This record gives sequence, structure tokens and C-alpha cells, in this order.
Amino acid sequence: MPSQKLSEGVLAGDPRAIARAISALENGSRDGPKIIRDVFARSGRAWVIGVTGAPGVGKSTLVDGLVSVWRNAGHTVAVLAVDPTSPFSGGAILGDRIRMQSHAADHGVFVRSMATRGHLGGLAYATGDAVDVLDAAGMDVVVIETVGVGQDEVDIALTAHVSIIVTVPGTGDDVQALKAGIMEIGDIFVVNKADRDGANRAVGEIEAALALRHDDPGEWHPPVLKTKAAMGGGIDELVARLEAFRDHHHPTWEARRREWATMRLRETLMRRVTERVQNQPKMQAAMTDAVDRVARHEVDPYTVVDQMLEQLL
Ligand code: GDP
Repeated sequence: MPSQKLSEGVLAGDPRAIARAISALENGSRDGPKIIRDVFARSGRAWVIGVTGAPGVGKSTLVDGLVSVWRNAGHTVAVLAVDPTSPFSGGAILGDRIRMQSHAADHGVFVRSMATRGHLGGLAYATGDAVDVLDAAGMDVVVIETVGVGQDEVDIALTAHVSIIVTVPGTGDDVQALKAGIMEIGDIFVVNKADRDGANRAVGEIEAALALRHDDPGEWHPPVLKTKAAMGGGIDELVARLEAFRDHHHPTWEARRREWATMRLRETLMRRVTERVQNQPKMQAAMTDAVDRVARHEVDPYTVVDQMLEQLL
């Protein structure tokens, strides 16, 4: 399908066009940038919610519960399940079929997996583009589900307007892991599987860790909630807190949006520069020559790359 037809399909909310557009962006295809150009003006309306936590804490179950609430209220919802550790993507993995089964027949729900393919710009970049596509397609809510605590998660969290961090009662290790990175990015913390022992202690530990965070005066202080997602427990409270966060006046909100825009611009710049350099006809010959010289230790890689750049740019 030509990229313009694809863009038209996206803007009309056609699920097939949306899926193909996201694949094009994920694969770094030439159509990707054209699609974003076509649809970007229509994005910026969706409410983007990040849900982060280790595998098995109950993210999918929780999101399933949230989707039910939003669907009952008449909103359309997209779920992007992002897994930086998985080599699979494109919505073909088993997880997708299991995931969101209760909404499988619902046209108001779009579910999609994404995984890293190791191409330049990384997963956060492709996720940001996918969110734009879903947003422009008219999805009212876009949920980004992510695993783990790496830099990808932090960047992905920046794409979201609000970040939920999900843990479960258990060893204090969870909180140690939280402290390592995502403690700073959470807007709402959830201790899921609160039907298990130790839920109150887990809440206490997270609250203690949060007390060390330096939120500015007037800034939102993250609540720590208990949920029993598998039994539907605590979902309404979570929705209420999400809405409260959305309606809160955030002194640093604009800074956060600018940080997000900076990240995307920086990555787009890097990508485009690399593409332009690689696409130069002279590049191939220069590269072959440089490889020979570096392999023979005649010249170091830094010097030769600087020379190449001077010639090419
Ligand atoms: P994800 O990997 O974080 O998406 O986790 P899943 O949503 O797939 O849930 C992992 C397992 O935990 C599943 O077997 C769920 O049924 C179970 N689970 C989810 N929520 C709860 C809960 O509140 N209590 C209990 N006991 N189990 C839950």
C-alpha cells in the first residue's frame, strides 16, 4: 500500500492501516517518516498512559481492567505492549493472543506488541511514533505497557502523560530495583496482588522511598495504591487517581513535554544524519578504504571517521 493510502487509512481509524503503519515505523522503512508527516497534525489529543513493571506483576490484567472501565465510558483504547527484551514483534507473538482476550471482539480496542530490532533510534523512538499513529487514528486513550527498568523504559515513560509503576508484595528486592531508576518517573504506584501477604509492607516501603524524592512545592505527590487486578479490585480507585493526575495543575508539566520533544528531536536528528551519510554514493568507497586501513592498524577509527565526515558533510 502506498504511504499516502496508509496515512489516509490511519486517519480514518482503519485497524489494518494502523497495524501496517506501525510496522513500517518499527522496521525503519522509508514510508515511516512520510506517515508521521501526514498524521502528526492530527495527533496530540490522546491521553497516553504508561504502565511499567516486571514480568508477571499483573500489568496485562490491570490494563485489561482499565480498558473495561474506559470502554464502558465509550472511549476507544489502544494498548502497546513494549518488550525491549523480546526479539519478536508485530503483534504476532503468543502474548498478544492471550493478552486482552476479553476485548478481542471489540473494535474500540487496538492491541499491539512492539519489540526492539536493534535498529538505530531504539525502541523508545518507535514507540513515540506508534503513539502518534494511534493518537491520529482517533484513539482516546493509548496505554504503553513496558517491562523492566532500563533506559528504554525511562524514555518511554517520557512519551506517556502519566506513568504507573506496578509491583507486587514480596521481597524488598522490588523496592531496591525501583530505587535504581523508575522511582523518579512514577506518577502513581500500584502494589498489585494485594490479596497476598505483605501488601501493606510493600506500600510502606514504596512510600518511604518516595519520601526521598524531591518534588517541587505544588507538584503532584505520587499515591501508592493496592489493587487485586485478577479480581477487579482497586481498578476504580486507580482510574480516579489517573483522572486526578490529569486534572492536577503541574508546575513542571511543560518542562516534561519539552524534555519529550527534545528526546524525539535529538533522535530524529541522529537518524536523519546517519541516513544521509550512509546514502551518500561516496560513502561506500570511503568505508571500504577505511575498513582496510583500520584492519591493518594504519589509522585509528576516530581519525578516519572524522576525515570521512569532513569529506561528506
Ligand atoms: P504481566 O506479565 O505483568 O502482564 O502479568 P499478567 O497480567 O500476565 O499476570 C501474571 C499472573 O498474575 C496471571 O496469572 C494473573 O492472573 C495473575 N494476577 C494478576 N493480578 C493478580 C492479583 O491481583 N492477585 C493474584 N493473586 N494474581 C494476579
